Amino acid sequence: MDLLKWVKVMDQKMTSVRVEPNLCTHLISPKSTCHSCVEYCPTKSISFTKKQIEIDAHCLECGICSTACPTNALLFNRPPLAQVLSEIVHQCEQNEQVYLHCEKMPVSDKNVVTASVPCLGMIPREAWLSMLNKCQNLTIYHADAGCSSCEVKTGERVWRKELQAGETMAGSSIKITSTITHSAKQKPFDKDRRAFLSSFFNEIKATNRLALKETLGSTEVVSYQEKRQEDKVTKLKRELGEVSNQIYEKMTNESALPYMNKRVHLLAQLQGNDTFQKQEDIRLPLIKPNCDFCGACTILCPTDALKMETESNQHSITLYPAKCVDCSLCEDICFTNSIQLQHVQNRTLLKQEQKLLSQS
Ligand code: SF4
Ligand code: SF4
Repeated sequence: MDLLKWVKVMDQKMTSVRVEPNLCTHLISPKSTCHSCVEYCPTKSISFTKKQIEIDAHCLECGICSTACPTNALLFNRPPLAQVLSEIVHQCEQNEQVYLHCEKMPVSDKNVVTASVPCLGMIPREAWLSMLNKCQNLTIYHADAGCSSCEVKTGERVWRKELQAGETMAGSSIKITSTITHSAKQKPFDKDRRAFLSSFFNEIKATNRLALKETLGSTEVVSYQEKRQEDKVTKLKRELGEVSNQIYEKMTNESALPYMNKRVHLLAQLQGNDTFQKQEDIRLPLIKPNCDFCGACTILCPTDALKMETESNQHSITLYPAKCVDCSLCEDICFTNSIQLQHVQNRTLLKQEQKLLSQS
């Protein structure tokens, strides 16, 4: 990675929200109907120029835009979702009872184990799903007055909606309480100094690993104009020069990760869970026979989930299910209304690829 790229990425890491305009459907096409971030931002701090997403100084750093954005064009960094999730799961493994709360609604009882986030609205349904599957001893602490007096006006609407969606997927629920109760076997987290220090350094190591993974991946996001000029694979091969195929494969695979912050959590929950695989919680595009193979969807798709292949004047469009983030851009931009997102079994996400349509 060259120094300028590294500086750019580290600069993005220093801000609370990483902005990647090449992933924003609204900037890719004026036909995009997505304005989720603007709709849910509590301070209306998000606006668009021709090429950039601007966040003004009124931003409360709640992370709601990151939950709302289907493509992770806005990615909350403070703290990153993966770090939040791993810390909550770790706490739940170590303790009998853990209370999750937002920083604006602190738990005053120091004898219980807690995990906090800037706003519960920063947790998308996929992360709730992970917690529902891994943390049976987690309870949400929500004081009687609730979120009504909070400056993050859209917070409660977002977290309840995302929690409910996660609960529907999991078929179970997380308890919400306004009263803290003590468990007889409550084990205070890391009171012993040695245990505290070792857990502290382990968390730093884990956080660095996550940050590095995100950092390496986040350099590969190219605009659709660039994609048209130079095939991404050819460009990477040229840049990497003599580097072995093995490393090259690893990098290209990991480059998909920042697009798929939420999908990664969903894919992890799908592994080995037959009941969840049979449910129809996801949508994927389906192409109708009236498609004229103009290729617009394959060029504009922000995550490269659609690919057009042409062989001996025969066209075909292939979907890479795991990369599709249900952003609706393909549906919004298709001039012949030939593409439609449809509910399919969750297990479809695990397929390597799926031929959508071939020219007859
Ligand atoms: S794609 Fe993300 S950043 Fe762009 S308008 Fe939609 S929610 Fe906002
Ligand atoms: S295939 Fe369509 S819905 Fe899926 S990520 Fe691409 S543009 Fe969005």
